[in-house]
Amino acid sequence: MSFLSKVISGCCPNCEQEKMFKTNGNPFILKMPVMNKSCSKCGYVYERETGFFFGAMYISYGLTCAEMIAVFVLGLLFNISFMNMFIIILFIAFALSTINYKLARIIWLNIFYKKM
Ligand SMILES: [Zn+2]
Repeated sequence: MSFLSKVISGCCPNCEQEKMFKTNGNPFILKMPVMNKSCSKCGYVYERETGFFFGAMYISYGLTCAEMIAVFVLGLLFNISFMNMFIIILFIAFALSTINYKLARIIWLNIFYKKM
């Protein structure tokens, strides 16, 4: 499996049989996604050390910036006023926050995954 397909599937990087997250979360009811501690199929522990996912914040920051820039460019193309664009960007950043959270952790884990 390629890196991109592993990230999109969101499965355990070791056996690729079980999803890493129990729930998806929903920002509109303030529910964060819940991650499994380890894979139930192969026993791979996701959080390898305390604070392992701290670095995923950088990935999340990059994803959020990319989304904001994409919305900004679309706003320029459709000639939307800057105030409306600002509100749309805030809404998009809020709506995609849980997706970015999950994606950042999955990417971070797959970056540092080593086949045992
Ligand atoms: Zn597994």
